[in-house]
Amino acid sequence: MSFTWTQHRFAGGALALDVANSVILRFDPERSVDRFADPAQLSAFPVAAQTFSAERALFGELAPVEKNGHVSVLHLRETIDVYFRAHIEDRQTDAMLADLLENIAGTLRGSKPKSLEAATAHSALRLLDTTTIDRLKICGHCGWLFIDRSKNRSRMWCDMAVCGNRTKAKRFYERHRPGGT
Ligand SMILES: [Zn+2]
Repeated sequence: MSFTWTQHRFAGGALALDVANSVILRFDPERSVDRFADPAQLSAFPVAAQTFSAERALFGELAPVEKNGHVSVLHLRETIDVYFRAHIEDRQTDAMLADLLENIAGTLRGSKPKSLEAATAHSALRLLDTTTIDRLKICGHCGWLFIDRSKNRSRMWCDMAVCGNRTKAKRFYERHRPGGT
C-alpha cells in the first residue's frame, strides 16, 4: 500500500509529538504500524515536516536523515512517547523524564544543527513548559499524542476531521446494525 505524509499525520501540534505519532495504534500490537521502520518513509518525513508541522517556522529547513541518524531518531522518539504518555496518564514519571533528558542531551551533543534529531529534541524541550505539557492529550481514537489548544480544553481527537468523524461513524454503525444497541 502506498503511503504519504499528509497534514493529518502532523496533528500533534509539535514536531516531537508528530515524531512519536509515527507509530500508529501503539495500544494495539496487532494493528500497530511503525512508519519509520520503512527507510523511505523516514527519509520523506523531514521534507513533509517542513510543510505540515505546526512548528515549521521554528526549525525551518531540515537536512535529510543521515545513514546512522535513524537509530538516534528512534531512541529519542521512544523516550518522548514514554514520558509524555505517562505524564498525561498521571503516572510516576521521574525516571522517564530522566531518560528523556539524557536522550535530549545526547542528541544535541551528537547531531548536526539542522538534523531531524536536533529539531525533535528542541521540540521535546518546548513541550516541558508547564503551559504546554498541561494541554497534552491522547487521541481517543488512534492513541496519538496531541496538544489541545482549544479554549476550554475540550478536544478529544488529534484531528476532528479524521478521528472525530471515524468515531462518530463507528457509533452510528454500532447503533444501527441488526442487534446493535
Ligand atoms: Zn487520532
